[in-house]
Parts: sequence; structure tokens; C-alpha cells
Amino acid sequence: MLFLTAPSDAPAQSRRVSVQQSSSAGQDHFLLLYNTHTAERIDIVYRRGEQYIPSALAQLDYFLRDHRTGEVRHFDPRLYDILYDLTSSIGHSGGEIDIVCGYRTSSTNESLRAHTTGVAKNSFHIQAEAIDLRMPGIDTLKLRKAALALGRGGVGYYPRSDFIHVDVGRVRQWCFDCPASLIAGD
Ligand SMILES: [Zn+2]
Repeated sequence: MLFLTAPSDAPAQSRRVSVQQSSSAGQDHFLLLYNTHTAERIDIVYRRGEQYIPSALAQLDYFLRDHRTGEVRHFDPRLYDILYDLTSSIGHSGGEIDIVCGYRTSSTNESLRAHTTGVAKNSFHIQAEAIDLRMPGIDTLKLRKAALALGRGGVGYYPRSDFIHVDVGRVRQWCFDCPASLIAGD
């Protein structure tokens, strides 16, 4: 195991180097995430080659917890691949992603539904299969196009709140509360 000794909390610098030195088969997949609700930041290698790293997934589960209740649920790691591929496809591989929403308990989801619009009753967030995000310095519309181009799961666009939703459900898309100009040019 070539990278057995590299801890998941190793400095980002050393990990970037190991990525360059590794073959594509053993490539490190890393994420740099900032949680807009808890102000926590995580910089982590969650997958090495074809292997997800259990300890890293556990850290990500906690990071993406329901910030209102503190409840943690195990996320579908394919979501992390979508995030990673998204940053790569726009030329910002491993660039920082702002997490607007991760896991939601049913009660939190119901509360959100009561007080805001655009929240689905059977949201993928309740299953820990969806993430809402934006990237600092990146046009969210560009991010949406990149997510659609990946062709994996659902992609929702929320221009007024400036974020996209990605999930591992069937491939579909929507734009919530879209300005007419955007619909016309879509
Ligand atoms: Zn969402």
C-alpha cells in the first residue's frame, strides 16, 4: 500500500504532491469544503483509487450533519465524486466548495417547508443523498452547467439564493424561481 502512511489530515500541500506522483489508478480524490452554517472547514482525501476511505467518510458525515439538530447520517459517497468531478470539470480541481445544506432530518425539512419555498417533501437531503453548494469566485450558473454536463443525478438551480443542488437520484433538472431572462436564454 503505497499511501498507507498518509493520514487523512495530512497537510494539503503534501497530498497535492502525492496526487501528482501517483498513477491514475491510485489517484487521490480530495475535497475542500466550507460549511456556511457551522463555519467549519474540512480538507480531506476521501478516496484513494477505487477505495473510499471509511474514516474520511465518517468525518464528512459529521461535517454535513443537520446543523439544527446535530444529527448525523451516512452520506452516499457518490455525492463526493460528483463534487470532486465538478471542481475538476471547471478547472478548479479540489477548489473550495461552500456547503449551503447537507443532511436534513425530516423535522428540519418540514420546518423549512413551512417557512420557505422550494423545499421538496421527500427531499433527497433527508436520505443524505443531496448537497446544496456554491463555489466562491465561480459563477453559479457556470457551476450548474458543469453539473448538468456530468449527467449524474438531479441538478437544481436556485439563482436567487445563488446555489445549486446536486443529488444521486435519477438524472433530472429544475430551476427554482427562475428569472424570465434566464428561462428565455436557457
Ligand atoms: Zn437541495
